Amino acid sequence: MTIITDRFSISTKGFTDIIDITSQIVELTKKHGIKEANAHIYVIGSTASITTIEYEPGLLRDLPEALEKFAPVNKEYYHDQTWQDGNGYAHLRSSLIGTSENIPIVDGTPFLGTWQQIVLVDFDNKPRTRTVLVQFLF
Ligand code: ZN
Repeated sequence: MTIITDRFSISTKGFTDIIDITSQIVELTKKHGIKEANAHIYVIGSTASITTIEYEPGLLRDLPEALEKFAPVNKEYYHDQTWQDGNGYAHLRSSLIGTSENIPIVDGTPFLGTWQQIVLVDFDNKPRTRTVLVQFLF
């Protein structure tokens, strides 16, 4: 098996900022001439996630609303008592959704549905610069 590792950085606004990173994954796939592989896409950190979504205005509001029910921003968490950093909700959301996705690369492109995009979601309570690591396994 061969593994190719690459990465890119992305600036976020935090507060459940949902950013379409599909084009970056397509670019890396082309850059390395990948035809058939598994792309493991991973964000470093414990207050962000990688997932897929239909990137349209309704869902960009629905996802934060749904997560607000699971882990409200303005609730006191035990984590905040530990560090006083006020982002307990962000850690919980990251744990729920996860920090990586595996996307098959088929015929030189990510195998996605027509309305399916790969997104980075940054939950932290401040702007961040995130590093996304991509490993192609084939
Ligand atoms: Zn924290």
